[in-house]
Amino acid sequence: MPVENHNTQLVWFRNDLRVHDNQALVAAAVAQRLVPLFIFDVRLFRKDKYGFVRTGPFRLQFLIESVLELRKQLRDRGSDLVIRFGLPQYIIPAMCAAYKINAVFYSAEPAPYEQGDEQLISRSLPEGTCMQRVTSGDLLRQEDISKLGDIPDIFTEFRKRVEKLAVPAPIAAPTTLPALPDGMEVGDIPYLQLNMVQPKADERASVHFSGGETAALHRLRSYIWERKAVANYYDTRNGLHGEDYSSKFSAWLANGSLSVRQVYNEIVNFEQMYISNKSTYWLKFELLWREFFRFSMRKHGAHYFRKTGLRGKDRKPWCAVLGNKVTTWIDGATGNEMIDALMQELKNTGYMSNRGRQLVASYLVNDMGLNWLEGAAYFEHMLVDYDVCANYGNWAYVAGVGCDPRTNRYFDIEKQAELYDPGKAFRTLWRKDANTAAC
Ligand SMILES: Cc1cc2nc3c(=O)[nH]c(=O)nc-3n(C[C@H](O)[C@H](O)[C@H](O)COP(=O)(O)OP(=O)(O)OC[C@H]3O[C@@H](n4cnc5c(N)ncnc54)[C@H](O)[C@@H]3O)c2cc1C
Repeated sequence: MPVENHNTQLVWFRNDLRVHDNQALVAAAVAQRLVPLFIFDVRLFRKDKYGFVRTGPFRLQFLIESVLELRKQLRDRGSDLVIRFGLPQYIIPAMCAAYKINAVFYSAEPAPYEQGDEQLISRSLPEGTCMQRVTSGDLLRQEDISKLGDIPDIFTEFRKRVEKLAVPAPIAAPTTLPALPDGMEVGDIPYLQLNMVQPKADERASVHFSGGETAALHRLRSYIWERKAVANYYDTRNGLHGEDYSSKFSAWLANGSLSVRQVYNEIVNFEQMYISNKSTYWLKFELLWREFFRFSMRKHGAHYFRKTGLRGKDRKPWCAVLGNKVTTWIDGATGNEMIDALMQELKNTGYMSNRGRQLVASYLVNDMGLNWLEGAAYFEHMLVDYDVCANYGNWAYVAGVGCDPRTNRYFDIEKQAELYDPGKAFRTLWRKDANTAAC
């Protein structure tokens, strides 16, 4: 690794929008000059093949807040954030040539599309510039996992194998950073190109997500330490509404304004200081689900984006039941009270509980007979916490073409509604015509 005698290095921020526990930043910061760069990738603001703009308003707003907060953190340390709009494979090589950059540090992503970008950039760099890859988004060390052999396709097997591995401690944020090269234009948020539409805040939302690592660390502190809600996680995790039935860390974890190792570390500290019980274990268990989908994505890559998923064949013939349309599902107009309420919540807040996601995904696939990829694409557009591995991994799982050994994971919606919303409070709150009802 080129850690010495390098004049100018670049750190390309992607889904690691933080200064705490950021290996790429720390490694690049030994240079005399540092270029911290974030690119709004033009492709993520275009429509996909189903007609959904990949990054919808909730995530876009959250992303902008996260980027601005990162800029503030970097400025506080004597640096800045250079912001561009376009394609990384053009922007980065051109910047390297213009500023004689020695090395580009970046955190490798698990999905094929992003990996393709890394290769394209690597091939177009000027002579004398190298790519330096780290992994900032994982809980465990890749080297440790690869020593265990092939990644199992079943979560339980994966968990049993990796649970005993040590989770590296998060690394501290640098206190000072090298300045930008002289004359470098920092750029600003490209609001116009992003077609930013401010989403309306809905007071019925379980939480209002604010982007950036300050808000992330605040949520971590309040959920774990102030309210000690982690001590009851196991019993509350299937909730549908409220601030603390689950951690709500997902949005910050997804764009990396929160480090998963930081979260893990805080849970362990809490266990040592207060209580170690089924709930504290279970939150760590969920972080392993996240980890599992990241490694499974690395293993299966593009297969996660085809209708037949990892199986290579359809679980059953895919055909819409009685001309069902995805818009009915999206608009919360299926006629099923529970599904409609959940879809209203998603449309108005960009978030939905894990239980809710399982129900609406199962309904789309099993009850409506629609293509799971279209549901996953809509989630990609809408979710404030969209994460490629968790989203496509879970959708494929529910659709019976992912890593679930069972091919038919059917949820009986009526039974589930009785179980998780017995007094209909959630359904009443998110009735289409409801606006300010309390849950
Ligand atoms: C169809 C479907 C689509 C999903 N899409 C996404 C997505 O795009 N982004 C996303 O982060 N999660 C996704 N999930 C997983 C899960 O629903 C969310 O992580 C969770 O609801 C987020 O809320 P929380 O942070 O309060 O979770 P908590 O219950 O507090 O869990 C803590 C953390 O563990 C991880 N986690 C929990 N459950 C899962 C899971 N099943 N798979 C992977 N990681 C998990 C998340 O990082 C989460 O923040 C999806 C689930 C389903 C069924």
